Amino acid sequence: MNNPAICYFDNNATTQVAPEVVEAMLPFLREHWGNPSSSYTFGRQLAGHIDDARTRIAALIHAEPRDIIFTSCGTESNNSAIHSALATQPGKRHVLTTAVEHSANIKFCQLLQKQGYAVTFLPVSPEGALDLRLLEESIRPDTAIVSVMWANNETGILFPVREIAAICRSKGVLFHTDAVQAAGKLAVDVRELDPDCLSLSAHKLHAPKGIGLLYLKRRVKYQPYIVGGGQEHGRRGGTENVANIVAFGRAAELALASLEQATTRVRALRDRLEEGILNNIPGTARNGAREPRLPNTSNIAFAGVEAEGILMLLDQAGICASSGSACTTGSLDPSHVLTAMGCSAARARGSIRFSLGIYNTEAEVDYVLKHLPGIIAKLRANAPG
Ligand code: PLP
Repeated sequence: MNNPAICYFDNNATTQVAPEVVEAMLPFLREHWGNPSSSYTFGRQLAGHIDDARTRIAALIHAEPRDIIFTSCGTESNNSAIHSALATQPGKRHVLTTAVEHSANIKFCQLLQKQGYAVTFLPVSPEGALDLRLLEESIRPDTAIVSVMWANNETGILFPVREIAAICRSKGVLFHTDAVQAAGKLAVDVRELDPDCLSLSAHKLHAPKGIGLLYLKRRVKYQPYIVGGGQEHGRRGGTENVANIVAFGRAAELALASLEQATTRVRALRDRLEEGILNNIPGTARNGAREPRLPNTSNIAFAGVEAEGILMLLDQAGICASSGSACTTGSLDPSHVLTAMGCSAARARGSIRFSLGIYNTEAEVDYVLKHLPGIIAKLRANAPG
C-alpha cells in the first residue's frame, strides 16, 4: 500500500491509480497536450496514441478496437446504451432491467418513466439471484433493450449474463450489460458473451476517474447521447481526454496481464477477512450468496448497529469501507440493493461493504480483524434499548 495512513477496503467505489498508469499519462498532460482533431502534427499525432490505447483496451475485453466508444464514465455509458436503444427503435418504449442495478441505470430509467416510457425492474431473491424465466416472460414486443449488470457493486453477486444474452438473442431484443465492476476482476470476453453493448469505467481498474467506454456490437444501430464534434467517428462528441484515454489503455494492459494472479490473491484475502468477521464477531451474516460472486467483495450485516457508526470508528482507525447506502440530504436511506433482496431496513442500515484490491495485504486484513470486534462491541454496548 502506498499511503501508509489508510487501509483501503473500498475498491468498488474507486481504485488507486497505478504508478505505471500515472507514468504513462503524465507526458500527455505535460508535453503532448494538443487537440487530436487539429490539422498540424502537434495535435494530430495524438490520434495515434488514442488508437493505441483503444487497441489495448479492446484486448482486455476481446473486442475489435473500432467497436469501442470512449465516454466520460460508466454512468454515461449506461445512459447512452439505453438512450440509443430507445432512439433507434421509436416504436419500442419499454426497458427491462433489475431492481439492483447501479443508480447510473436505475435513476436514468426512473427519468424515462417520467417521460412516459415503461420500465420493468426485475426483482431478485434473498440470495440476490434473478429468475431467468421471469426475465424471459417479461420481454415484451415493445421491449427496446434489456439492461442487466454483470456484477453487483454492493454485494459482488454475479448475474448469469451469458444466459441472459442468449435469451435476448433468441427474442431479438438488444442486450446491454453494465460490466463496470466485472472488468479487471473477471475475464470479460465479448466474443463469448456477445452483448449488443457493454459499459466499463476506468477508475475501477486503477486508472483515473472521468473515462469510460461503451462497447457497441458491429451493425447495432447507434444514436449518440452527446452530440457535438465528430469525435469517436461521430458517436460521441467532445474533445478526447487524451491523457485519461492513454491511462485507461495502460491500466487495461496491466489488468489483463495480472488478472488471474490478482484475482486468486485478492480472493484469498477477501475470504480471510470475511471468515474472520463471520467466525469471530457474533450477530454477523453475509448479505447474498457466497457464489457466484466477485472475488473481491464482501457485504456483511452487523446486527444491532448502524453502518454509519461502524464506518466512523473504522475511519478513526484509518480503515476505508462503505455502507451500501446512499446518503441523501443527510438522511441515510437503506440500500436499494439489500432492500430488493428482502433485507429489513434495520439489517440494510447495519451492513458494510468491504471491497478489496490488488494493493491490499494480509497485514491490512489482520489489522481490520483486530479492530473490528472492539468497534462492534462498543457500538452495541452504546446502542439504545
Ligand atoms: N455501474 C456500476 C456497477 C458501478 O459500480 C459504477 C460506479 O460505482 C457505475 C456504473 C458508474 O461508473 P462511473 O463512476 O464511472 O460513472
